[in-house]
Amino acid sequence: AAKAAGRGKHMFYEASMHSEASDRQVLENDLRQALDRGEMWVAYQPIVRTAGEEISGFEALVRWNHPTRGPVSPDRFIALAEECGMIAKIGEFVLNQAMAEAANWPDSVRIAVNLSPIQFNDPAIVDVVGAALAEHKIRANRLELEITEGVFLADSDATDDTFARLKSLGVRLALDDFGTGYSSLGYLKKAPFDKIKIDQSFVRGAASTAHRNTAIIRAIVTLAESLGMDTTAEGVETHDDLALIRDLGVSQVQGYIFGKPAPSDQARTMANSMRVEADGYSCVRAPRQ
Ligand code: C2E
Ligand code: MG
Ligand code: MG
Ligand code: MG
Repeated sequence: AAKAAGRGKHMFYEASMHSEASDRQVLENDLRQALDRGEMWVAYQPIVRTAGEEISGFEALVRWNHPTRGPVSPDRFIALAEECGMIAKIGEFVLNQAMAEAANWPDSVRIAVNLSPIQFNDPAIVDVVGAALAEHKIRANRLELEITEGVFLADSDATDDTFARLKSLGVRLALDDFGTGYSSLGYLKKAPFDKIKIDQSFVRGAASTAHRNTAIIRAIVTLAESLGMDTTAEGVETHDDLALIRDLGVSQVQGYIFGKPAPSDQARTMANSMRVEADGYSCVRAPRQ
């Protein structure tokens, strides 16, 4: 009986592994066609200066509207796109959409675009970025490229070279999700970042929960200031957290309190008014997340 049960378990395990693998395969096949089928679009989330409520820029965030599954989260498909060799194509799509959109905004409003480590570690990225800026006539320092600590895993001379060449193009560089992953202060010394984005895990609920989050945010701000870098707190949802983030001297805020990622027409309205109120949900509602 024990043997039979063991065997049954084993078979069940294999069956579920199999369906997981084939589900992934199906999603991968769909992902390969998603761009050509026009299923991807770009949402824009405001980034707001903590002094006042003036918009500093927007972060471009890719969206995939799957024909049968509905919206699929980037947390699910970006990694898949990286694994199956699709990320460069998707990344270039986002970059170009974002540049085209930013051309409609006041010149002082920045546009932030996420780069996968795979894109960053391909030396061709510098030409891709340069061409997008030229095509859409965007001043280089309006573009902020968001990179995670994952780029340093390759840690090659080519990585250093890409940093230098992007800087000489004049674009800004932000270190995204700071404090998670492979954080090392050595990276801050090495790479010419203009901004540190403080990860949501330290920010959300900071005012009401762990006192330690406050200490960590304060330390990051001190570090960034002494290195001449800006800071953005991600994931600010409440007035209490906003007040705390302001007190701690963080330069900018991004979070649902000022607006969820929204379609381009809504972003354009916000960009042209240059202001957005801290209450988010009512005035800036994204269609579906
Ligand atoms: P990220 O770059 O750190 O982007 C911020 C994420 O936090 C976005 O999730 C945004 O919707 C979410 N967020 C912002 N404020 C709040 C808030 O107040 N509360 C909560 N709960 N969430 C908030 P999203 O759009 O689902 O993207 C997830 C991640 O997927 C991004 O994290 C980024 O790593 C990746 N991603 C998105 N678009 C792209 C892209 O075009 N290229 C690449 N390589 N990665 C992308
Ligand atoms: Mg980002
Ligand atoms: Mg982030
Ligand atoms: Mg993130």
